[in-house]
Amino acid sequence: MFNFILFGPPGSGKGTQSVKIAGKYNLAHISTGDIFRKNIREKTPLGMKVQGIIEKGELVPDELLVEILADAMDGFRDVDGFVFDGFPRTIQQAKDLNRLLDERNEEVSLVLALEVNDNEIIQRLLKRAQTEGRKDDTKDVIENRIKIYNDQTQPLIDFYKKEGKFTAVNGIGSIDEIFNSICNKIDREI
Ligand code: AMP
Repeated sequence: MFNFILFGPPGSGKGTQSVKIAGKYNLAHISTGDIFRKNIREKTPLGMKVQGIIEKGELVPDELLVEILADAMDGFRDVDGFVFDGFPRTIQQAKDLNRLLDERNEEVSLVLALEVNDNEIIQRLLKRAQTEGRKDDTKDVIENRIKIYNDQTQPLIDFYKKEGKFTAVNGIGSIDEIFNSICNKIDREI
């Protein structure tokens, strides 16, 4: 199995690239953000619990993520691995993921970051706000999400560097150019 974490700040293109990677390598795409948005749309108990947190751009508590992840992973059969998109976002979540994979005799294969500077991210997210109407794409919330990314998620880079699993590509360019750079890195590992 190939268990791939696509890593990067909000607006770095993780969602778009994850779908393409999952298709090419027959991996299950797990986006925790998509799972939360679906639950909010369907007004499930989980959706009600997380709606306010997500609208403020804060992180959902780690305990909730573990449950969601385990369920999502169990829901896929006949795949050659996973693409994790938007997870893990804290060191605790990275440890939880190691445990969940370990229980399945699996491990994280590769962590790849899409590198995009803050200015570009803010421009992209403000543009996305006009087209997709996500409630967490307003200027204040975007700034909060970037701050949280820098404070809580960025430290994961060192965590995975220590495990020898970290790599990065330039996240600025056309969708196809970035996809090719990612595939080149994956093909070296597979
Ligand atoms: P995303 O679509 O990945 O940008 O996620 C949208 C929002 O969902 C985030 O700003 C968080 O509020 C929440 N969220 C998604 N994934 C996680 C996670 N791994 N840990 C905590 N909160 C998350």
